[in-house]
Amino acid sequence: MIQDQILQAIQDYDTIIIHRHVNPDPDALGSQGGLAAAIAAGYPDKTVLLAGGAVGNLDWLSAMDEVADATYEGALVIVCDTANQPRVSDQRFSTGAKLIKIDHHPNDDAYGDLQWVVPEASSTSELIFDLIQQSGKLTLNTAAARLLYAGIVGDTGRFLFNNTSPHTLEVAAALIQADFDPTALNNRMNQITFAQAKLQSYVFTHMTVTPAGAAWVVIPRRVIEALGLTSDQVHAAVGTPGRLGEVIAWAMFVEQVDAPYRVNLRSKGPVINELAKAFAGGGHPLAAGAKAQDLTEAAQIQRALDALVHDYKETMNA
Ligand code: MN
Ligand code: MN
Repeated sequence: MIQDQILQAIQDYDTIIIHRHVNPDPDALGSQGGLAAAIAAGYPDKTVLLAGGAVGNLDWLSAMDEVADATYEGALVIVCDTANQPRVSDQRFSTGAKLIKIDHHPNDDAYGDLQWVVPEASSTSELIFDLIQQSGKLTLNTAAARLLYAGIVGDTGRFLFNNTSPHTLEVAAALIQADFDPTALNNRMNQITFAQAKLQSYVFTHMTVTPAGAAWVVIPRRVIEALGLTSDQVHAAVGTPGRLGEVIAWAMFVEQVDAPYRVNLRSKGPVINELAKAFAGGGHPLAAGAKAQDLTEAAQIQRALDALVHDYKETMNA
């Protein structure tokens, strides 16, 4: 099994540098930091480093190390939760002696000497838990358990999304037996700033909902700047329209500084990633992203989304 080869590589190398993707989410930081903590606890003599630079609003969850260029010489590098090489935070990831990819996104960019990619897994953190369980050496200490739990909670939307499997819940059940406070962690992850709350208010006030159940909202740059929101904080509002029962599929158009509009598409049933592909994007069947050059193109996406919801409802009623 590929996991045996990964565990052997961890055993073989004295220096292990772990990377994740840019704009990290809790699963990126959780899988990266959870793996590092489990290796360090099981092999106290090894040097285990976290690479990738600043972590933004999630600095309460994990902190990175300073890694010198020379440290990569002869080192094992493991990249967690990152489908494509351009998305790896800190491009020195390719300068080590051996490279391993551990991920749960479709394996479109099969980089690395070893790849363990399981698209059915809820999160990379879930995979890291399985790796620790299989190993006789990696150790699930409190730090590792807390980080992996955060990663699973993040990528499953608190066990709400359809990537939550029976195994996901078994892993979560095992993790909360460690000596950390899962309620405090959940509360911290659920916390928003007052500015984010005002953005949610803006979304509900300004969104259009069609009779079929398509919804969209345009977030102008001036609103984002007036509220002082980061792009991560804006992105956290993408799920907001879907909380309404009458909304089947929705789009959030976020005006960018450089490219005109980033389009976040979400759905409870109709497949929306083909629509995303038609507008310079892509993604999963129920969660995708695209671009709109102007409000005319945004209106095209809105009409197409409404048609998709129409067709979906007709199919369901047939
Ligand atoms: Mn991620
Ligand atoms: Mn993930």
